[in-house]
Amino acid sequence: MTDNVHLGHRARKRFGQNFLHDDMIIDKIVTAIDPKPSDNLVEIGPGLGAITEPVTDLSGQLTVVELDKDLAERLTQHPFLGPKLTVHQGDAMKFDFASLIRDDEKLKVFGNLPYNVSTPLLFHLFEFVDNIEHMHFMLQKEVVKRMVAGPGSKAFGRLSVMTQYYCHAMPVIDVPPECFKPAPKVDSAVVRLIPKKPEQRTAKSTKLLNTVCLEAFNQRRKTLRNSLSNLLTADELTALGIDPSLRAESLSLTQFIDIANWIYDNKQ
Ligand code: SAM
Repeated sequence: MTDNVHLGHRARKRFGQNFLHDDMIIDKIVTAIDPKPSDNLVEIGPGLGAITEPVTDLSGQLTVVELDKDLAERLTQHPFLGPKLTVHQGDAMKFDFASLIRDDEKLKVFGNLPYNVSTPLLFHLFEFVDNIEHMHFMLQKEVVKRMVAGPGSKAFGRLSVMTQYYCHAMPVIDVPPECFKPAPKVDSAVVRLIPKKPEQRTAKSTKLLNTVCLEAFNQRRKTLRNSLSNLLTADELTALGIDPSLRAESLSLTQFIDIANWIYDNKQ
């Protein structure tokens, strides 16, 4: 049980609290973020400050969004760190990240994310990509694998297509369970996300792109002719240059966009 108490705080499972305590890994994460004094930095889920402190040492100031009231209070009251932080106590999934833009300075977002909400949180952040310079997140390694997977891979799915639609994604650090207290049951990894330029994101409706992915991957073992039959016919797929006997996992990001844009133009 004592394993769940770290720096006098009992880890709350419902908030996905696994606190980092490995200095070498923390160093690697800070190096990947590369904080500078002029940066508009935002940390999601600072917790007990494992990454917050070394980042703030380099940047001088930092905005944090923390759901746990006790931890937010603890950071606000921290004698050295507190004055350098702007603490927002609340749910990052409901947070308006665009409200943090100042002097046209884009955000550099990072965090060791609560694994229980990582996918919806990523989708929330994708809505703000035009306000973001880069993001670094610690996630379950399986999730990072799915984010960076390409066509033909078993891990390729909706999360891969939507992540790669919004961002260039690359894994940067592998993190074993023993680097956390309490240790999670799964391996972790840090992913770097660099938002793509608006002109590279050519879907006419991201909602439709998401719907196409949901339908296609929901029944991933079916051919597109069957899995997408609610959205378009086999002939319509063929007219787009896409073989209807393929499965979702064979399609490229561009082909998913082509399907979504065809539906937007012809069926909306
Ligand atoms: N950054 C710390 C570290 O690396 O040791 C803590 C990481 S812990 C995995 C996740 C943190 O996110 C916790 O502090 C938790 O309270 C906070 N958290 C959980 N859900 C959140 C949410 N929806 N919005 C903001 N913070 C959240």
